[in-house]
Amino acid sequence: NADIAMYRAKNKGKDNFQFYASEMNTHTVERLAFEARLRKALERREFVVYYQPKVSVETGLIVGAEALVRWNHPERGLLYPNDFIMLAEEAGLIPRLGMLVLDVACRDVLNFRQLDSRFGRIAINLSGSQFNDHQLLDEVRSVIDFWRVPANAIEFEITESMVMHNREQAIILMDGFKEAGFTLSIDDFGTGYSSLAYLKRFPVDSVKVDRSFIKDIPHNPNDTAIVLAIVAMAHTLGLKVIAEGVDAPTQLSTLREFQCDEYQGFFFSKAISAKEFASLLQKQVMVERV
Ligand code: C2E
Ligand code: MG
Ligand code: MG
Ligand code: MG
Repeated sequence: NADIAMYRAKNKGKDNFQFYASEMNTHTVERLAFEARLRKALERREFVVYYQPKVSVETGLIVGAEALVRWNHPERGLLYPNDFIMLAEEAGLIPRLGMLVLDVACRDVLNFRQLDSRFGRIAINLSGSQFNDHQLLDEVRSVIDFWRVPANAIEFEITESMVMHNREQAIILMDGFKEAGFTLSIDDFGTGYSSLAYLKRFPVDSVKVDRSFIKDIPHNPNDTAIVLAIVAMAHTLGLKVIAEGVDAPTQLSTLREFQCDEYQGFFFSKAISAKEFASLLQKQVMVERV
């Protein structure tokens, strides 16, 4: 790409060449600066973990949470994963970021369980670079042991592409996590290239139907049929189904009709701070006592 830009620039004259070259340098310099800044942010622990409730479709109660990382940038404010996860991945910083998120989640999950004994687990997103690392399971175990958190309080979300890339290897890794007592789910289900037939071979507990299929239910007959088919097939295989991105009551009533197990989405709550999440749990416990 850089070569093509230079070639084109050269043929247009010297001034243009200088223009392109300096533009390229600026990009490289900016990227390196951003990577250095990311490294510093890890050291300074500028990352915060927000929690989006996972809600039971049947009871309307919070049963768990998904940990979603944010960068509390001192100058730029709260940054979302879309703004930095890709660069962190390229800079090789995802394993460290992932361990930071797990560390915070372990601390918080004990508090959440204490506030409401029915609180299940916190789900953590894994990137491909983490999942393919053979030391991941040992590292994860040493963190949860340090906090005295039981494995059943932590869930890992992995995507279809992470699993399909090297199926046999992925199954061995997943078996290790299951044997250690962790819960596993397939994130963004339906967007990758795995088929429902593969599900029975993967030792996972649940699938999370991607937001793109939920967005237009019940109006869109194709999406509605797909969601119903996923729920039916997953249940046949003994898996739970979680719907992502539920932001309207009509979506929720459709999911209830289809007997989908849990949902997440702005209709109930966006991702919130640990403190806000704790007070939501407290409210839920108080309402029941009345
Ligand atoms: P994801 O795992 O699919 O997470 C769900 C995303 O959908 C979150 O965005 C969440 O805020 C958003 N969302 C939830 N409900 C709704 C809704 O009703 N409507 C809409 N429009 N959006 C909704 P977020 O927090 O920006 O995260 C984006 C992605 O970044 C995540 O997608 C996940 O792949 C990645 N990510 C987040 N935290 C981590 C982390 O700690 N480690 C790694 N490796 N990846 C992470
Ligand atoms: Mg996720
Ligand atoms: Mg997802
Ligand atoms: Mg998604």
